[in-house]
Amino acid sequence: MNNKDAQALLTHIVARVQPLLSRGVLPKYIPQLTHVNQLQFGMAFITLDGQEAFVGDADVRFSIQSISKLFALMLALERVGDDLWSRVGREPSGRPFNELVQVDHEAGATRNPFVNAGALVVTDILCSCFAQPELALLQNLRLGARDERIDIDQGVMRSERGSCHRNAAIAHLLKSYGSIRNSVETVLDTYCRQCALAMTARQIARCVLPLAADDGLSVAGTRDSLKAAQRHSVVALMLTCGTYDAAGDFAARVGLPMKSGVGGGIVAVIPGVGSLCAWSPGLDESGNSIAAARAIEIFASHTGLSLLGAREWVRAAP
Ligand code: GLN
Repeated sequence: MNNKDAQALLTHIVARVQPLLSRGVLPKYIPQLTHVNQLQFGMAFITLDGQEAFVGDADVRFSIQSISKLFALMLALERVGDDLWSRVGREPSGRPFNELVQVDHEAGATRNPFVNAGALVVTDILCSCFAQPELALLQNLRLGARDERIDIDQGVMRSERGSCHRNAAIAHLLKSYGSIRNSVETVLDTYCRQCALAMTARQIARCVLPLAADDGLSVAGTRDSLKAAQRHSVVALMLTCGTYDAAGDFAARVGLPMKSGVGGGIVAVIPGVGSLCAWSPGLDESGNSIAAARAIEIFASHTGLSLLGAREWVRAAP
């Protein structure tokens, strides 16, 4: 697909998702995120050969929330390698992302790095590797996006830190089982900062692009820092766990490895081709953006750039 075709498809997608923008809810448990204008939509598509197509609010910064779990995982894997998998699993949880009971039931084991429990363990690993882990992450992302304008939204950070009772409960439970090594406060502070990173769809797509490449590139563009097997693990986890307990449904509907966040962003990897990020704030009951999910689904069905190939019936649906 050339750049002109990609741009035309994105323009078509914006029109298609308009009726969806007012649907869904904003995440009330992070009060600051309820002040966002829900009618926004942006999308960026970037190819491995350097073409970029974008549309709508692709250059508006939004709260990346759980998409940070992907970036934290990549940085932790770069640092500690496969030892990470002795502390975090690679199985879908089948439960909401903020599940608490499963952690207790499974004696402090965490299912995968994309549910909050597993992400808190990854953050704990970063806290052991770096004096200021959120700054290491920030620097990595600025390099990966080739853009210095990425930052932590302090208002969102304070808002979540002040009301993160569930994550605090999960972190204490993990600590009681010896699953995190730093103090609960340190891990929660860092986790809330990484979730409050504000980025645009274009910046996120750029940072995820290395996962689509056959050769080893890190988010920051450094060659070989993530080994091929590690990248494969990350991409496989995106497909099986990246959209929480809706991942099975997304695999059947879209057929692409994706990672979502309650800020309304969803990023997708198209192996061997490129990356795609869509954003719109309204969320469904599993915490995934309704319009962004539909946009990626339309993109995949039109282009056939998906495990599922091109699908005429999806193209025709409203
Ligand atoms: N910061 C959010 C939380 O921990 C991230 C959740 C998400 O984006 N799904 O609950």
